[in-house]
Amino acid sequence: MNNRVDPNFKNELYKLGNKESWNDCFHCGNCTAVCSLTEENIVFPRKAIRYMQMGLKDKLAQSAEPWLCYYCGDCTETCPRDANPGEIMMALRRWQTVKYEWTGLAGLFYKSFTSLIVALILVAIAILTIGFMKDFNHEAIMHFGHSLEFWLIICVFSIILVPNIIRMFYFTVIKAKVKAPIGSYIAAFLSLFGHMFTQIKTFKCDKQTTRWLIHFLVVMGYLGLLVITVFLDWFGTENQSIINLGYITGGLVFVFTFILMISRLSKNRELNKYSHSTDWFFIIWLFLMGLTAFLVRLFIDIDLLTNNFWLYMIHLMVITQWGLLLVPFGKWTHFLYRSFAVSFINLKKASLS
Ligand code: SF4
Ligand code: SF4
Repeated sequence: MNNRVDPNFKNELYKLGNKESWNDCFHCGNCTAVCSLTEENIVFPRKAIRYMQMGLKDKLAQSAEPWLCYYCGDCTETCPRDANPGEIMMALRRWQTVKYEWTGLAGLFYKSFTSLIVALILVAIAILTIGFMKDFNHEAIMHFGHSLEFWLIICVFSIILVPNIIRMFYFTVIKAKVKAPIGSYIAAFLSLFGHMFTQIKTFKCDKQTTRWLIHFLVVMGYLGLLVITVFLDWFGTENQSIINLGYITGGLVFVFTFILMISRLSKNRELNKYSHSTDWFFIIWLFLMGLTAFLVRLFIDIDLLTNNFWLYMIHLMVITQWGLLLVPFGKWTHFLYRSFAVSFINLKKASLS
């Protein structure tokens, strides 16, 4: 039923990272006033905090607004009650991720660190078993690894991510009774990829240029590495241009994720002060993926891989854990939901105008 109050909602959010501040807000509205991303009719974070305090889960499921927040921290720094609205928005995004994800595994991994560790270990054992079944034949395992990457992308997108985006659309557009003209659907779709790859709205927040640039380089490096390894067969090719491009993209990924890890450890910004375990898994596995891919290709080029095949096995474990667990059920999906949220909010604006 719509708008039912759930008094236990705060306990759910507690497990997703909103530890102390859920009830400190007294609704002065300062956070909404200072937020440079809030707009007429698209108001946050105060409104979402009100829904959270009242346990209005349906209202929250129908709000794409938490995805418009880039966690600049302005609201948290100026909140007179230290209610930490920036972190509340982050916890709400985790809750929405769990809500959109249809298998229930995102909820399990977000709430139970142990479950994620067990799943990661099981995947590592499966890769070792496959290696054993193939008598650790280098050529056969590398061929298997290349096919596995391709099929992981196809399956994860079609079985997990596409249905989850449809669920997000159902909650934030259909259930929210957004009635936009048909032309705005086309415009929203066309703007989707621009937002996805540039996250251009970040520039509306002050102090975000360096953060935007690092994220942009990581995203470009990650997507480039994906194309070069999966579709251009980086580990098998002898084309020097592709090999060099692979080094550049792999280097971008591990160098800039290392910088992100250092800033998270330094807790030098609001965004970095409260890291959920899934934030760490995301960033560490991204780093490992870029680094191990870079080293595998380097070992091929200097003829060291044959005697050090353990390196490729580690790389294969890392990318399988990434593709099978961390992409579909972890923080990677925020990249997807944030991009679609901008389009769904554009529909909402069109319906209100
Ligand atoms: S979170 Fe803080 S700034 Fe925002 S309405 Fe509540 S008390 Fe005011
Ligand atoms: S963290 Fe920044 S973008 Fe997010 S709600 Fe607060 S002021 Fe707005």
